[in-house]
Amino acid sequence: LIVQREHEGLEFSYEIIWERGFDGLSGALDRLRLPYRKICIVSDHNVAELYLKDVERALSSTGCPVSAFVFPAGEEHKNLSTVQELYRYLIENRFERKDLLVALGGGVVGDLTGFAAATYLRGIAFIQVPTTLLAQVDSSVGGKTGVDFDKYKNMVGAFYQPRLVYMNSETLKTLPCDQFASGMGEVLKTGLIRNRDFYGWIIEQQAQIELRNPETMDHLIRECCRVKAAVVEEDPKEQGVRAILNLGHTLGHAIEKLMNFQMLHGQCVAVGTVGAAYLSYRRGYLTEEEYLQIVRTNLAFRLPVSVRGLKQEDILGATKSDKKMEEGKIKFVLLKNIGEAVLDRSVTDQELLDTIAILN
Ligand code: NAD
Ligand code: ZN
Repeated sequence: LIVQREHEGLEFSYEIIWERGFDGLSGALDRLRLPYRKICIVSDHNVAELYLKDVERALSSTGCPVSAFVFPAGEEHKNLSTVQELYRYLIENRFERKDLLVALGGGVVGDLTGFAAATYLRGIAFIQVPTTLLAQVDSSVGGKTGVDFDKYKNMVGAFYQPRLVYMNSETLKTLPCDQFASGMGEVLKTGLIRNRDFYGWIIEQQAQIELRNPETMDHLIRECCRVKAAVVEEDPKEQGVRAILNLGHTLGHAIEKLMNFQMLHGQCVAVGTVGAAYLSYRRGYLTEEEYLQIVRTNLAFRLPVSVRGLKQEDILGATKSDKKMEEGKIKFVLLKNIGEAVLDRSVTDQELLDTIAILN
């Protein structure tokens, strides 16, 4: 699958490829004909433990020296101090602008490596080798990079596209169940915003998805990437339509923040999606049956549909302080239909309170 855009000074073009194992990595890099002399793999401790040796071995057949920068796993390390350590490592090891970074890991590694790549020497090439479901279906494609700052999620970042996304869905075998479910939160979101048939297919394939059947997972990831690539090509810098990718994220981010990041991103998005579906039902866009189907589908994929122990006014406050507010109006993504998302700036406090009430 090729992700590309050829106009308005925002040109980019890169390929997403699917392989089993990591052996195809050096061949894929050779085909890009990049001028790098050194490669730095960036990863977290969990992923490095599982896959670093294999990836180092695969990359060593490029003939270039390969080294690694590994940091502790977790959202709490997606910050500027980890970025600084990475800069320091790159400087001490004399990485130049033409060299290459490889992001090996989930969304945390991908977002952080992408941001470091965008800013180190004003931009050094990087590729994504995503290892979580969430990263394979969402964060590794599209060029949003960044880190958290103080309590604020993704507050500092850049739009910066990778040169290649290398998918090895075999890595999903080692992914813990809750992380797999979190990825499914973004998968269901993707089906809901643009592709009614795909959403139906996901529901039909529930048993195979649960088993992480490689063929089923490859198809699922490919469809998600297709939707994401199409939206990103249309609007790379989120000036319009790209915002529909944030279905479930307005409430989701508020919950994520109030839970102090103890709930996984995709789980929070899943609850937020139920909220958006409820609002869409109340507006008369979705039928009650469609709304209930969205609730049931979350449950079938072991995703939450509510959160306990949060105060309604806190959720309202956190929603309204989201950085995606525009002139005091909350930007909400609603569903006109299953498979058709729209951006809406007219959601009232009362509607929001009613929605929060059903999520409690
Ligand atoms: P993550 O990167 O923290 O990975 C989750 C956990 O799984 C980590 O502990 C990691 O070490 C471990 N892990 C990774 N791959 C594994 C594997 N194959 N086997 C076993 N364990 C493995 O989290 P995530 O869910 O991948 O990403 C969440 C992040 O992505 C958030 O910071 C979010 O803001 C960001 N995100 C970015 C975008 C974007 O467009 N850039 C989109 C969605 C989410
Ligand atoms: Zn998300």
